[in-house]
Amino acid sequence: MIRQLEEILDQGRKSIADAGSESALNELKVQFLGKKGKVTALMKGMADLPPAERPVMGKVVNEVKNSLEELFEARFREVRELDLERRLVQECLDVTLPGRRMPTGALHPLTLVTEEVVQIFSTLGFGVVEGPEIEKDYYNFEALNMPRNHPARDMQDTFYISEDVVLRTHTSPVQIRTMLKQRPPLKVIAPGTVYRRDSDLTHSPMFHQVEGFLVDAQVTFGDLKGTLVTFLNRFFGRRIGVRFRPSFFPFTEPSAEVDIACVICNGKGCRVCKDSGWLEILGCGMIDPEVFKAVGYDPAALSGYAFGMGLERLCMLKNGINDLRLFFENDIRFLRQF
Ligand SMILES: [Zn+2]
Repeated sequence: MIRQLEEILDQGRKSIADAGSESALNELKVQFLGKKGKVTALMKGMADLPPAERPVMGKVVNEVKNSLEELFEARFREVRELDLERRLVQECLDVTLPGRRMPTGALHPLTLVTEEVVQIFSTLGFGVVEGPEIEKDYYNFEALNMPRNHPARDMQDTFYISEDVVLRTHTSPVQIRTMLKQRPPLKVIAPGTVYRRDSDLTHSPMFHQVEGFLVDAQVTFGDLKGTLVTFLNRFFGRRIGVRFRPSFFPFTEPSAEVDIACVICNGKGCRVCKDSGWLEILGCGMIDPEVFKAVGYDPAALSGYAFGMGLERLCMLKNGINDLRLFFENDIRFLRQF
């Protein structure tokens, strides 16, 4: 029986040392010291011993029981301390860690292109002027030599707010507002948002233009050409082929459309330029005397030129973007590339 007790004590020592948690220790304690535990079972067995041996055995059993209890208590303390240490490590807060940054946005490619266009024209002496996007019919059409029922109005599908108020269909009304407010010489560009009832793969109901014009004595078509060729070369970063084609706009006379040698194929012909080697990039012309009359300028004493271009188109050609809709989806993965 003494040997059995020694074995129990040995087993207990090992098991207790191996137990890694309070719950494991509690289970062990039941196994050894519980009502149906090993030590209790031996104590019950004492009844079968001869009476003379009982006191000695009782003492040994009590010693083993006390030893086990001490071992349990010591291990409980250890396990609790280990647990506390582990939690302190796990739950500690490193106040020196850098904070989580919010993802940064990026300037929209159209903003970047607008800034670049403005910058180039600034170095050529042009000032920036802005006008309202909700515009009077008078500034948007009438003063630009497009009276009511003028067929040229059909070229621009207009959003009407009321009979006399529209969402401006181009930035040209800024010309009229500026000429009415200031006296020549004028040298101005006007970037801005414009609206037309048009929506498909290559048209958006809202898009962006930059308008430019110059009014002074003896302005020639040669001045216009020089300004635009200089701008296009600087914008595309190299000498680029430019051609002027006769065209028609109600507010300029003569008028021209300007093409550049295709920036994709360098004029050899490709899908983007429809095999022509040329890309239409802007419209321009000498300001029509009727426009001068509308703002009270003397067409005999003054002349001027004007031009307008789509910023989306400039941006697409410069960056090789092939879908207009990308500009308005605001997908951060697209925007971050610029
Ligand atoms: Zn091409």
